[in-house]
Amino acid sequence: MTLKLAAAAAFLCLGLGAAPAHAQDDADAEILGEAMTFAMHDAAFTMYHEIGHMLVGELGLPVLGKEEDAVDALATIWLLEFDEAEDSYDALINAADGWYFNAVNSTGSGVDEFSYYSDHSLDIQRAYAMVCMMVGKDPEAFGETADIYEIDAEQQEACGYTYEQAFTSWMKLLDPYLIEGDDVSQVEVVYEDAGEYEDFAEALKTSGIMDYAADTVAASFNLPGKVTFRATQCGEANAFYSPSDSEVIYCYELAEQMFYMYLYDIVGWGDTAN
Ligand SMILES: [Zn+2]
Repeated sequence: MTLKLAAAAAFLCLGLGAAPAHAQDDADAEILGEAMTFAMHDAAFTMYHEIGHMLVGELGLPVLGKEEDAVDALATIWLLEFDEAEDSYDALINAADGWYFNAVNSTGSGVDEFSYYSDHSLDIQRAYAMVCMMVGKDPEAFGETADIYEIDAEQQEACGYTYEQAFTSWMKLLDPYLIEGDDVSQVEVVYEDAGEYEDFAEALKTSGIMDYAADTVAASFNLPGKVTFRATQCGEANAFYSPSDSEVIYCYELAEQMFYMYLYDIVGWGDTAN
């Protein structure tokens, strides 16, 4: 059984060319372009994560364990198996690195700063869980990533089972809701005014992430009612599913946060440039 992929091609293309105008030279422009690609890769993972919450909510799916972990697994499976973008594997590596650097940023503050009671697992656990599933599915493609994350060979092998179980479980849960014929569910994509986040809104539109995800969901699942995917300003870097409105919200601020994470935490922009 497979999810029915929308006919539209995926546009998660590299080199979005959306580098802000203040780039001072080609090297700067290249790094800014990479930062935007990183932010958009994270946006793709984030959208599939929130779509996971949406499917649980709209379809009333049972969830064993933390829902957050379950939908992280679905987002990972989606990018590994069903997203046709040629850089969907890179998107996974970037999204895992995003959780990793979120964790690194919070580690200096001491153990009391960790929210052990959160409905999310710790960011560092989310990073490792993703990389485990990635190497479990495709050891050849992700062995190096798993090595960088210092997941040892024995554990990498065990990740094969972890992945298989997550994949089988999700497919079994979703199977009764898969569309058989040419029906489509109603999934609308709305880009709200982006204000100062216009560069990020443009990159999001150009990437086609939300439209592609919407087309795929609409063609794949019998949803009980209309669902909206909305990109908007939220006043915080976030993304969420609103059950009362049947909406998946992606906040432009999150793209900005991931953009600067790449610049400052990953390439050390502040250390090397003015
Ligand atoms: Zn979540």
